[in-house]
Amino acid sequence: MLDYDLHCHSNVSDGTLTPTQLVARAAERGVKVLALTDHDDVDGLDEARTAAVSHGMTFINGVEVSVTWRTHTLHIVGLGIDPHHPALVEGLKSVRSGRGARAGKMADELAKAGIGGVLAGAYKYTDNPNMIGRTHFARYLVEAGHCKDVKSVFNRYLAKGKPGYVPHEWATLADAVSWIRGSGGVVVLAHPGRYMCGKHSMGKKTMHELLAEFVGAGGQAVEVVTGSHTPEQYAEFARYAKEFNLLCSCGSDFHGPNESYRDMGRLPDLPLGCRSVLDVLLSAPVLKVA
Ligand code: AMP
Ligand code: MN
Ligand code: MN
Ligand code: MN
Repeated sequence: MLDYDLHCHSNVSDGTLTPTQLVARAAERGVKVLALTDHDDVDGLDEARTAAVSHGMTFINGVEVSVTWRTHTLHIVGLGIDPHHPALVEGLKSVRSGRGARAGKMADELAKAGIGGVLAGAYKYTDNPNMIGRTHFARYLVEAGHCKDVKSVFNRYLAKGKPGYVPHEWATLADAVSWIRGSGGVVVLAHPGRYMCGKHSMGKKTMHELLAEFVGAGGQAVEVVTGSHTPEQYAEFARYAKEFNLLCSCGSDFHGPNESYRDMGRLPDLPLGCRSVLDVLLSAPVLKVA
C-alpha cells in the first residue's frame, strides 16, 4: 500500500514544526505522498514542496479553510490547489483578517475568568501572527500551568460554550468551495466525525443536510480516515461517502509531536468500497511533483 497523508499542519498555522521539519518527519516515517494543509494560509507550500523534492516525495498543495455553516464551524480542505489563484488568495486573506480581533476578545474573556496576560502569551507561540488561533492560546495556558495539556485547555476554556470561547464568522461554505474549485483543487469535508460529537454538535439529520448542501455547492470528497475518527467512524463516513457519491480522503491532521491524535503516515487503509481522492489527484499530473 502506498503510504500517503493528505492533512497536516506546519507552523504557518497551528502546527509546531516548520514545513521543512514536517516534511522530513513524514519522509522518515515512510510517507510517499504528502499534502500540507495549513489553516487559512498557503505560505508554507513552497518551502514544503522544496523539502519534499529533496526527499523524493510527491507533494500536493493543500489548505484547510475555516467555514461557518449555520451554528457550526466546519473545516474544508482543498487539495491540488493553485496557491496563486487570485480568488483563493483574496478569500484566504479575508478569512485570516478576523483572527487578530478575535484573539483580543478571547483574551478579554479569559481575563474576566481570572486569567490575565494571555494575549502576549499566545502570540509568543505563533510563528505567523496573522494566523493566531485557539491552539496558540492553549499552548500558553499549558505553559502558565492552567491545564496539563492542550486537549484539557480546549475542554475547560476554549471549546464552544467555555469561558474563553468567542463566536466568529468564518467563510461561507459556498465561498470556500468556490475558491478551492476555482483554483483547480478538489474540495474535501474535513473530519466530519468531529461535528457530531460534543455538546453543540450536529445530529444525523443535520449531517445529511450538510452533505447534501456540500455536494450541491461543489464538494467532492469527505475525510474517512483521519486522526480524530474512531474505526467505527471510518465505517460510518465510508457509508455516507457511498450515499452521497463522494470520494474518500485520508490524513493524520498532525500538528506536532506529542500533541496530535496521530502521527503522520501509517494510517489505516480506507474501508473497502471507498473511492480514494488520491487516485484523482495523482491522475492530474499538473498537481504534483514527480
Ligand atoms: P481556531 O481556528 O483558532 O478556532 O483553532 C482551531 C484549531 O484548534 C483546530 O484546527 C485544532 O487544531 C484545535 N482544536 C480544536 N478543538 C480542539 C480540541 N478539542 N482539542 C485539541 N485541539 C483542538
Ligand atoms: Mn489546527
Ligand atoms: Mn480541522
Ligand atoms: Mn487540520
